[in-house]
Amino acid sequence: MRQKIVAGNWKMNKNLDEAKVLIKELKKELKDGLREDKRVVIAPSFVNLHYAAKKTKKSSIEVAAQNMHQAKSGAFTGEVSADMLTNIGVNIVILGHSERREYFGETDELLAEKVDAALANGLEVIFCFGELLEDRKSGNHFTVVESQVKKALFHLKEEAFKNIILAYEPVWAIGTGETATPEQAQEIHAFVRELFVKEYGNKTADAISILYGGSVKPSNAEEIFSKPDVDGGLIGGAALKAEDFVLIIKSI
Ligand code: PEP
Repeated sequence: MRQKIVAGNWKMNKNLDEAKVLIKELKKELKDGLREDKRVVIAPSFVNLHYAAKKTKKSSIEVAAQNMHQAKSGAFTGEVSADMLTNIGVNIVILGHSERREYFGETDELLAEKVDAALANGLEVIFCFGELLEDRKSGNHFTVVESQVKKALFHLKEEAFKNIILAYEPVWAIGTGETATPEQAQEIHAFVRELFVKEYGNKTADAISILYGGSVKPSNAEEIFSKPDVDGGLIGGAALKAEDFVLIIKSI
């Protein structure tokens, strides 16, 4: 069954004290649980993951890492492995975020390796992709998105997609206040789902959740989420305030 998911990417925000407050507020707001097909995920920074995983264990909030290294272990100063994540109770990782691609040089090829390592360690992946403003202006957005998705994911076997959530995040809409229109989001989501139909068939394509990310707020969430191929959102700025995040969750 395709799931409805709202995931909050906290990025490099919230120290432990602040994370404690936000987690407490979210737990209080979501104490009545979620409908069976709905999921809520938060992605705090590495240093707060252990705390977040412990504190949310008995709640309906799931915890994701914002990144991980592809190697099992070794001399990779400053990095975190998949095993380190699962060992502290974190079972989801965000990969391919445009900020990782842009500021840390992550390529489609590297992301394919990271996806493999995550899946091999039993992690679920929220895989992000999306075009730059210049790609959209030049009409290349379909080509860019197709290439990102195919290069990082299409070497996988069909069953792997049970553990993959897609997130379309047009770079021009991230943290800019400029949201893709619901129609623009739907157009790309339907296009990506069709890529899956062609490569893996209807069953896999229908079951995969495709989230939209890019300046989602309480005021625009419902309209975006109402589109048939939009299965929820990956939320940045608005995930940092419990009140806003909860309103977004309620609008799904
Ligand atoms: C993000 O970075 O994943 C994101 C969607 O950010 P924002 O909601 O702030 O645009």
